[in-house]
Amino acid sequence: MKSIYCIGELLIDFVAEGQGNDLSKANTFIKKPGGAPANVACAISKLGGNSRFIGSVGRDPFGTFLLHVLKENNVDISLAQRCKTFTTLAFVSLAEDGERDFVFSRGADKKLKYDSSVKKGFKGHMVHLGAATALLGGGLEEAYSRYFFDALTQDSFISFDPNFRGDLWRDDESTFVKKCMPFIEKSHLCKFSLEEARLLSGQTDLEACCDFLHDVGAKVITITLGGKGTLLSTQGLKKTIPSISVTPLDTTGAGDAFIGCLLYQISTLDKALAVLDDFELLTKMVEKANVAGAITTTGFGAIPSLPTYSQVFD
Ligand code: ATP
Repeated sequence: MKSIYCIGELLIDFVAEGQGNDLSKANTFIKKPGGAPANVACAISKLGGNSRFIGSVGRDPFGTFLLHVLKENNVDISLAQRCKTFTTLAFVSLAEDGERDFVFSRGADKKLKYDSSVKKGFKGHMVHLGAATALLGGGLEEAYSRYFFDALTQDSFISFDPNFRGDLWRDDESTFVKKCMPFIEKSHLCKFSLEEARLLSGQTDLEACCDFLHDVGAKVITITLGGKGTLLSTQGLKKTIPSISVTPLDTTGAGDAFIGCLLYQISTLDKALAVLDDFELLTKMVEKANVAGAITTTGFGAIPSLPTYSQVFD
């Protein structure tokens, strides 16, 4: 089985209690571990895969808590870093329909330092670039770009999820789009939400979104569509693969569970890259990844709601 290196932020989600979608009125917050790449790492390991997290937290109690959670979930944290800056915090509110809203207080995640000794481990393995904060500058952006280059030169299987957060890119969405393009061009698998696919392509029609992104160079595209499932698209074939029926409580982490489950399945193949030319196999894998995403919506918080292997595959 291949290792999957998940690179990006690990942070605290402070989830507002009982205040609908309005953070300004929230008085009480519950502390939960978060950060998309960390969620993906947990999703992979909870299914039985080998995930390794690369990111930075503060030398404070929140950093201690977060690394403990990853360790508890069997994520390899030997490449995680700690720095003097406070751990990154995200304040989250949940609407009644399970949708969410974010405010970020950015700290240690941007201090990640590139480590040139890591790249030899990439050879023949997989790298997932899924940070919401990675393209905002700082050490993380430099490390992210250099690890991306390393993954390309080490023939790793590369997956990219832009994790667009409107809060972080107010009035500067065009910079976000521009910075994503090299990752879309060179990665083997891209995971987008519908909002991201439209933003990145400048198209509204789903087929046109995919055509545009394939023209940029995207190989396999998955566009997650919430309760409607996932659109899978390769250069030649497209198909919407339905999800299962659930009653969602909190959609936080559904996309991370989805991509984590897809990557886990690819990591079990002898030749990960062979999946790029096998639409039937990809379809089966996306069906299972949809189940993982759906199950994650049925509980509160991302990591505690991630499914085990038997919940998805038995
Ligand atoms: P994120 O918001 O974490 O970036 P996302 O928007 O990509 O993620 P969703 O589309 O909400 O994630 O969910 C990912 C996948 O989980 C979907 O493609 C679908 O398969 C499954 N899923 C999500 N919500 C539901 C639901 N209400 N019912 C069934 N399946 C769901």
